[in-house]
Amino acid sequence: MSTDETPRCYLCGGIDHEVVAREFRYPIEKTGYRCSTCSLVFIHPPMSPEEERKFYEEEYGIIYSQEKNTTPADLFEARQEDAGMYQDWVSPWLQPTDDCVEIGCASGYFLAVIKDRVGSVAGLETHLELRQYCEQIGIPIHDRLEEMPEASVDRLFAFFVLEHLGEPMEFLAQARRVCRPGGSIMIVVPNVDDVLLSTYNIPKFNNFYFTPAHQFYYSKDTLGRLFKKAGLPKYEILPKQRYDLSNHMHWMMAGRPGGMGKYDDIFGDRLKRAYADDLVARFLCDTLFAVVTVKAS
Ligand SMILES: [Zn+2]
Repeated sequence: MSTDETPRCYLCGGIDHEVVAREFRYPIEKTGYRCSTCSLVFIHPPMSPEEERKFYEEEYGIIYSQEKNTTPADLFEARQEDAGMYQDWVSPWLQPTDDCVEIGCASGYFLAVIKDRVGSVAGLETHLELRQYCEQIGIPIHDRLEEMPEASVDRLFAFFVLEHLGEPMEFLAQARRVCRPGGSIMIVVPNVDDVLLSTYNIPKFNNFYFTPAHQFYYSKDTLGRLFKKAGLPKYEILPKQRYDLSNHMHWMMAGRPGGMGKYDDIFGDRLKRAYADDLVARFLCDTLFAVVTVKAS
C-alpha cells in the first residue's frame, strides 16, 4: 500500500493498521481497519455525502421491512421496550426542569416516554415521515444541530448515532455548544469489544457486525480518547448488555441473528443475569453508554 492510499487514523494520526473486515453486511468495496497505535476501528474509504444519503434510505427501508411495519406509528410501538431501557439508563441524571433534545429521535418513542418527567423535549430527525409523526404527537423538531442556540439544553441524547458520523469531533463540539454548563451529553454506541466479535470469532457475525453505515467502531478506550480530544475530559462510560445468552448461542450454531429468548424455557433469569453481568464486568458487553458532563468553557 503506498503512502497516498494509507488512511490516517482519525484519533491519533497513525498509519499502521490491522485489517479487521473485508466483508460487510451488504456487499461494498470497503475495508475495516484497527489502528495499531490507538486501536480505533474505522471503515475506509469514508462515505461520501451522496453515499451517506443513499445509505440512510436503504438502511431505513431495511428496518421497516424486517419488522413488517410500514408506518412511523408502528415503529413507535415496536420500540417501546427500547424506550423503557433508555429511560432506565438515563434516569439517574434526569431532573424535572431539564430541557432535553434527542439527536436522531426517529418516531420520538424515547422522548415521548420521558416527556412528562422533564421540563421540555425536542428532537432532531432527518427522515421526513418520522419528523411529521413526531410533530403530530407533540414533539417539536429542530432542523439542524448547528442551528440550535448555544447553551439551550440540559441533556442531549444520541442513541446509536455517533458510530454513523464521519466527523464525530464536530458533532461533539456542537453538542457541547448547545449544552448548558453542568449539562450532559448521553451517548450510546455498540462496543467493538463485544464478546461475539472479540472472543468467539464467528465469521458470520463479523460480516453482519461490520456495516458500511458505521464509520467508526468504539471501545471504552477509544471512546474515552475521542471525548478527551474533543475537550470533554469529564465522562463516565458504562457497560451494558442488550442481547442474551440464547442470542449468542444462536449465533454460534446458526450463524444468524434472531435468537433472543430462544432458550428461555431452559435458561432461568439467574443464569441470564449472571452471563450478562460477567460480560459487563469485563467490558465484553455489546453496548457502551457514555455520560459526558459539559463544563463551563
Ligand atoms: Zn489511532
